[in-house]
Amino acid sequence: MRGMYIHIPFCHQICHYCDFNKVFFNNQPVDEYIESIGNELAILKREGASFDHAETVFLGGGTPTALSEKQLKRLLEIIRTYIDVEAVKEFSTEANPDELTDEKLRVLKDGGVNRLSIGVQSFDDELLRKIGRTHGSLDAERVISKARDIGFENMSIDLIYGLPGQSIQQWEHTLDRALAIDLPHYSAYSLIIEPKTVFYNLMNKGKLPLPGEDIEAEMFGMLMERMEKQGRSQYEISNFSIPGYESIHNMIYWQNDEYAGIGAGAHGFLKGMRYANIGPLKKYMENVAKDQRPLLESHVVTPIEAMEEEMFLGLRMMTGVSEMAFLEKFGKRLEDVYGEELRKLLEDGLLGRQGDTYKLTQLGIYRGNEVFQRFLK
Ligand code: SF4
Repeated sequence: MRGMYIHIPFCHQICHYCDFNKVFFNNQPVDEYIESIGNELAILKREGASFDHAETVFLGGGTPTALSEKQLKRLLEIIRTYIDVEAVKEFSTEANPDELTDEKLRVLKDGGVNRLSIGVQSFDDELLRKIGRTHGSLDAERVISKARDIGFENMSIDLIYGLPGQSIQQWEHTLDRALAIDLPHYSAYSLIIEPKTVFYNLMNKGKLPLPGEDIEAEMFGMLMERMEKQGRSQYEISNFSIPGYESIHNMIYWQNDEYAGIGAGAHGFLKGMRYANIGPLKKYMENVAKDQRPLLESHVVTPIEAMEEEMFLGLRMMTGVSEMAFLEKFGKRLEDVYGEELRKLLEDGLLGRQGDTYKLTQLGIYRGNEVFQRFLK
């Protein structure tokens, strides 16, 4: 196991586009849930999971910073009893700008967190309001400056483009302000309308003025150009960093390596098995209280699935997939397994070949999903 993901499913507000496993914070058994995380870690350990070589811990959600200082402190204390936090290379937490008080920043720092991934989404106050966020653009700038004062240096912000009513100029303005903060890492995603969200319902009623595919592609192009110009290389379709600041935790996913997923609804990949935990909090906590893994489902990854995952995860990264690495990992030649798909993708100009490595071309970066689907049998 190289990494550990811990899910904190609480939010003080519910964003209009979000389909993550989360609940509104008020009246939830937050303290008990935090203790359940400790119990799940204990169960996993008893069942033979080794946390000794974990390179990363990632607190995601929901929003981990929805917790109070006391709750955050307790969570970090629990993690510390199972993991040698000082030996972990990257200990990240997701955070919302308006929840990161000075005290919480200090609790995180003292608890060993060394990377912040802040959900800024946009620097346009009106758009932020329209998508259901409670912070303003100034909160983001203020909190990053405060975090720097407290000693955080490895920080990233998440941005979203293709928002309802968003113009190219508004996106450019967001990029300007994001880059002016001069962070080592940026993530930017196009808005996806997921079922069971406020936006999904509005879209079905014809009340969601999305910018359209061409504008969205233009926004993506602008993003790549601006990031490159400012020395943030695109190391994955949606992720940009200065060298050495790539997210180690996310690389574990894309390198198709193993990680533990802890918490309600978390997914994990351990001992050749992919699993998903039970999502509803109460059920999750009941299972853990009975001293049993809170599994919703699990299955052993077949060799074919493992190879598919290797391709569609590996090709997300700009380093691509190498024939030699594939042979070493699976004992099969890439050409023998995916010869036909690769030839077709080369012909279509979606993949390129450099030495023994296949990589997305510029066109392939725009049409990534189409490329990845070709490897699903
Ligand atoms: S986007 Fe983040 S903060 Fe907003 S509802 Fe989803 S998990 Fe909560």
